Amino acid sequence: MKKTADMELCDGCGQSALLTEKNGNEFCPDCYKVAEVLSSKPDLVKKLGKLTGREFKQGEKGEHNPRELPDVLDAVRYRTRDREQNTWYVSVSEMEGDPVEIFASTAFDRDQHLQSRISNLTTITRLISLILRHVFLGEVLTLDKTLKQLRRSSRQKNDLPDMLSTVLSNYRSNEMYNDG
Ligand SMILES: [Zn+2]
Repeated sequence: MKKTADMELCDGCGQSALLTEKNGNEFCPDCYKVAEVLSSKPDLVKKLGKLTGREFKQGEKGEHNPRELPDVLDAVRYRTRDREQNTWYVSVSEMEGDPVEIFASTAFDRDQHLQSRISNLTTITRLISLILRHVFLGEVLTLDKTLKQLRRSSRQKNDLPDMLSTVLSNYRSNEMYNDG
């Protein structure tokens, strides 16, 4: 569990708030408390549901049990080159032998010509990481999470990830999410 410094949208209610991470999701304080209770005290949740007449049915089987991403992970770093001979470092974080996150960086981070390429590569690695956490950790995927990763990949206004997230934002249907 760690706090992210910036105010962003909660994966639960969609409100802008100071977020705390849990199972790869980022929650506002209210949603975090609810999620905490749901995962740590399932019996209490059942009982409270009965008491308040708001019992919700859980699936018969195949209960969703995501693996928690620990604060410290082993990573393997690969040095590689693209077709223009720029050197890149690709790190793969592993959990019990499974790849759960991938990052790429370059020594030429300030090179203006590489800015758009860096943001595109960041987009790719952020989205792959989202998929890897889904595949290997059981993290639930949502459109909002996809948009969040696109926005975080953007380095300049109207670069490719910014452009894509703007277009896809039109499909955020729930009206409480309509904050531009
Ligand atoms: Zn929330």
